[in-house]
Amino acid sequence: MDWTTPDLNSWPAKVVLRVSKKLRSDKKFTQAAIDSNNAKAAERRQRQREEHARKNRYNARQSEDIAHCHNDVNELGEREHSAFSEASTLVDHHDYTDMMHRLAHHDSFDSLLDQTIQKDRLKDPYFDSQGHTEEFRLASTRHERLVESIPDELWKRIVSFLNPADAVCLALSSQTLRQKLGSAPLKSLDEPQNKHHKITFLRSLDGQLPRHLLCFPCARYHLRTRPGKESLKADYVKNPLFVCPAARNTTLPRLRLTHGRELPYGWVQLALRNSHSRAHGIDPESLSRRWQHAESGWDFRTRYLEHDGRLLVRAVSQCFVPPAKTLTKTVERHVLYELQDFMPYFSVCAHWQDGELMDMCKCAMSHVPAPPDSYLNQLKRAPKINREAAHPNFIVTGCDWCRPARRCPDCPTEYLVEIRMVEDRNDLVSPFKHAIVVTRWSDLGDGSSPYTSPEWTAIKGTPIPEPKVGNEYESFSHVGRRAVSGIFESKISGSIPGQRMLSLNPKNKKLGEYGHGWY
Ligand SMILES: [Zn+2]
Ligand SMILES: [Zn+2]
Ligand SMILES: [Zn+2]
Repeated sequence: MDWTTPDLNSWPAKVVLRVSKKLRSDKKFTQAAIDSNNAKAAERRQRQREEHARKNRYNARQSEDIAHCHNDVNELGEREHSAFSEASTLVDHHDYTDMMHRLAHHDSFDSLLDQTIQKDRLKDPYFDSQGHTEEFRLASTRHERLVESIPDELWKRIVSFLNPADAVCLALSSQTLRQKLGSAPLKSLDEPQNKHHKITFLRSLDGQLPRHLLCFPCARYHLRTRPGKESLKADYVKNPLFVCPAARNTTLPRLRLTHGRELPYGWVQLALRNSHSRAHGIDPESLSRRWQHAESGWDFRTRYLEHDGRLLVRAVSQCFVPPAKTLTKTVERHVLYELQDFMPYFSVCAHWQDGELMDMCKCAMSHVPAPPDSYLNQLKRAPKINREAAHPNFIVTGCDWCRPARRCPDCPTEYLVEIRMVEDRNDLVSPFKHAIVVTRWSDLGDGSSPYTSPEWTAIKGTPIPEPKVGNEYESFSHVGRRAVSGIFESKISGSIPGQRMLSLNPKNKKLGEYGHGWY
């Protein structure tokens, strides 16, 4: 026998059932009761509405006008539900065919509304403007005949107003135009003075040549040596990306990353070609490296990210620093500079000498506390003790001047200098030490050309050649809603650095090597 189920025929069960029926009868939950309750509630609401209208002197609308036009939605747009009359649920009975038709887009995406949406999307820091460039190319015989009806001379006159790259694009756009314009636009594009136009034109073929890479010094496409299996090596000269006959006697464009490491421009191209297809390029993340410079003790980490068709890089450099007490000018310089050509070991843009970067590093180093001085040692020296010397604060936050991040006014580069506690695995006695950590974020541009890409030329500090003059990078007008560091960190960790951002060179004095502050 099951002891847990009650025996409904026993007298205690009968008493309980009878009492509970009195207290909570089923009558209220029959459909008839619910309907009459709803009717009563509607009547009551109508009365309240009329009362309110009379008090505030307006004409009350008949609730049927609204209430009955769409099932049982009242004039406030609320739907009346009854929990027990399962007849109405939150979901209407939809006509699925109608839903499908509503989902389809019936209008052109070029409407005024869509244009503003597109503009709004540009404000989004994650918006990828390269996303949808594929368009249909329509060929119509009627238009072809229209093109044909215009005399050759007129077409040649039109071409004379275009730049050489656009002229070639026009000449190659159809068979008719090719015949009408002849080979003159192509010949003109091949002239040495039109090299940058030629590069612009060749770049437009990038999507069609997955196994080739555009070589800028030669202005031609070379075959990739290891398509898809490229790996960035320190000795990039012995591991070329493509077979270039001029590789030995020209300097392929590149960027100094840190002491002894450089990034050839081909890698920027490769990392950004993924927008065409996976076969075109490599994953930008695969460029990330970590290495150490044994002589100086500097430790470097680089990481790359693609954002809105441009390659962003973060280079973190760190090195142990002695306590500020023992620091002299010479020790400082030994830590920061490589003493052959007096360049900082860490990653810098071309404008590092002009701003406050080196002073920031020196200021940060001046905040490193001395190791704890025990009470016993203190007493051995003199009969007084100092609590702060025995328990120094090891978390260094820097001062108000050296703590904020800085943005170079001449290029898309940002710096942050910090002092962090880092574990030194080689030191078994006191493994935790203070290290100076210099983080640099840079926008390396869209890979269009090392000669004319505004971001790349700004970082390198090279002038932009003739045809693209006026395209120069203006650092502070390009910051937009978020700086490079903000975009980078929010994409990687979901949070942006809390530091303020100041100008690296607030006085905008450009003395270069002859300025005296940097050394
Ligand atoms: Zn070449
Ligand atoms: Zn400071
Ligand atoms: Zn700069």
